[in-house]
Amino acid sequence: MTPFSTSDYPGQMATVLFVQGCPWRCGYCHNPHLQERGTSNPLDWDNIMTFLQKRAGLIDAVVFSGGEPTIDPALEEAMQQVKALGYKIGLHCAGIYPRRLKEVLPLVDWIGLDIKATFNKYAHITQFAGSGDQALACLQAVLASGVDYELRTTLHPLLLPEEDLLELANSLANMNVNNYVWQLFRDQGCNDVVLNSTTLAGYPSEALVEQVSAMFTRFTLRKNA
Ligand code: SF4
Repeated sequence: MTPFSTSDYPGQMATVLFVQGCPWRCGYCHNPHLQERGTSNPLDWDNIMTFLQKRAGLIDAVVFSGGEPTIDPALEEAMQQVKALGYKIGLHCAGIYPRRLKEVLPLVDWIGLDIKATFNKYAHITQFAGSGDQALACLQAVLASGVDYELRTTLHPLLLPEEDLLELANSLANMNVNNYVWQLFRDQGCNDVVLNSTTLAGYPSEALVEQVSAMFTRFTLRKNA
């Protein structure tokens, strides 16, 4: 748990809860220690609720992050309990479990959804066959739900050459995505030596940023996300 954060839910002071477990294995993962879903719980839910009860009215939102929070069968109930205290609900989602995402979306006020690559090249990043289909279904669910969202793609030149970035941006623009973020790879927390030692100089090019920026109502390039 991060008790206070101003960077995980746009415009809101939030408490962030990190849910353990993720079946994918992205090389650039910032939280590889959360990929395994352990049997022990380092933080008791009752203690979290006690903290949130005391801070109700002082903190705006609770963000469920990970790992992949929709892996947890208790997520919906946890969101209901938190929402009953008056908090807004934020969700950081990698787009892995479309059915579970659809179940919790009615409780969510804002979602940050990762879009990792063009959907036919997803496994190149996630190391998981079929992951592009899962992510596409999640994106479609978010767009159909009307929930406030931000789509974000992590950029690394070894994983996403500029022609792939442009192809992905085109496909998202064709789906009427209106809020798209590029976040430049950072090595903090990442265990991949090759990714960490690659220069990002000149990537992405200014010309590409300008071209893609014009495709979306809101477009952001984050260099230190
Ligand atoms: S989906 Fe997210 S949590 Fe899972 S391995 Fe990839 S970056 Fe890490």
